[in-house]
Amino acid sequence: MLKTMTCRVCGREFQARHTPAYYCSNACKQKAKRRRQHRPYEPVEPPRRPAPDQPAPPADCVSAVQDAQRVANDLGRLSATAPYQLRPRFARLAEAFAAALEAEGL
Ligand SMILES: [Zn+2]
Repeated sequence: MLKTMTCRVCGREFQARHTPAYYCSNACKQKAKRRRQHRPYEPVEPPRRPAPDQPAPPADCVSAVQDAQRVANDLGRLSATAPYQLRPRFARLAEAFAAALEAEGL
């Protein structure tokens, strides 16, 4: 039994030989398929780079920070291994150094 349908692509009326039938022809069926497959352009997020106002620090800055971190570690070690009378002073220095580095986000 034929049924009068309206093509979803071109809007023409056609006699559907089977249901569900939504398109008048294979051409319109293909057109609809291509439309379904079409996805709007989605830009790919570029890889993160340092913000322009925060350029990568020069090598001498990096090595200075590494030196400071090493000193903080040395002071922490000395607060446990130095002669007894010096340990509290190294402990305070180690704590101050570590706090300063942490406060600067280093
Ligand atoms: Zn059609």
